[in-house]
Amino acid sequence: MNWVDTTGMSTASTPEAHDDSLQATAAEPKRLENYPMRLVAVSNLQSLSIYIIGAIVLWLLAPLVSVCYVLYCVILEIRLLRRSCVNCYYYGKTCCFGKGRLCSSLFKKGEPGRFTERQITWYDILPDFMVTIIPIVGGIILLIDEFSWIVILSILALLGLGFAGSAVVRGSFACKYCMQKDLGCPAQRLFEKKAS
Ligand code: SF4
Repeated sequence: MNWVDTTGMSTASTPEAHDDSLQATAAEPKRLENYPMRLVAVSNLQSLSIYIIGAIVLWLLAPLVSVCYVLYCVILEIRLLRRSCVNCYYYGKTCCFGKGRLCSSLFKKGEPGRFTERQITWYDILPDFMVTIIPIVGGIILLIDEFSWIVILSILALLGLGFAGSAVVRGSFACKYCMQKDLGCPAQRLFEKKAS
């Protein structure tokens, strides 16, 4: 899931020293100008696994629902590129999801300052949560109709990947080494508000 990626860059501040090493030299780990490909692969594996498992579960429910789900995921990915990545510090660079580089090959660079100014609410990130929730609901409907271990395991996998997996990806490296955390991130502000 990409709901953690609503990051932006403040034009008012400049990042401190950074390189591509994951070594922490102080209490706070270093930030990464470009993420190593192994982290990009893990991040994408997590979201791609959700899409694939979700599509399979919904295919068992009804092929048309599965096709609509895949289209929904594609639309969300494009929305992220157009609304977020164009304004992100990582535009043209390798962010933890590899989308900064992908975005620069598809869309023109936006206004970095816009992202930091943006205010987001839980309502704004609800569509991203739905990527996990929709197939879980579909799986529950299938289970009501007929017991299936495959569906139960798929639901558990979706719960693990969608919630625990996102927390691990975000907490362990995606947000941990992100330059945007220093430059200004509306998603981080939202989560901090929740935590306080
Ligand atoms: S470029 Fe990467 S870090 Fe920036 S908003 Fe897009 S996915 Fe998130």
